[in-house]
Amino acid sequence: MSRRRHLRLVTSDEVVDSTVVAVLAAEDLAEELGLDPHARVTCSLHRCWLHQCVSAPDHVIAVTGHRWCRSCARSLEVVVGDVSIELYCPSCGSAADTVANRQLVRACRTSIAAMNGVAALPLCAP
Ligand SMILES: [Zn+2]
Ligand SMILES: [Zn+2]
Repeated sequence: MSRRRHLRLVTSDEVVDSTVVAVLAAEDLAEELGLDPHARVTCSLHRCWLHQCVSAPDHVIAVTGHRWCRSCARSLEVVVGDVSIELYCPSCGSAADTVANRQLVRACRTSIAAMNGVAALPLCAP
């Protein structure tokens, strides 16, 4: 007797959406309790994973130096890859390797991993 397992098709969007909503809520709360807003992997403004909106002008913060080239006094461009993001300054070509920009890259790397990891869960679950 063979039993066929019924597989429900879950689009990755569906999974990602519910997850990002949950993480957003958790990080909103954590931020109120003292989490550094720049350590978040979701965006409290755009309500999505950080790497999905990090190229928006709102993520350029000259004061803190996030997505900012101090020597050129201009915003950095963002290239979003599969596992990480890259920042570069269109004026001087440097990656503006500062603590603030490294923090941004690290947070985006985590947000990409969180999105991909969770989306893959239904396939990996025993
Ligand atoms: Zn955003
Ligand atoms: Zn520059």
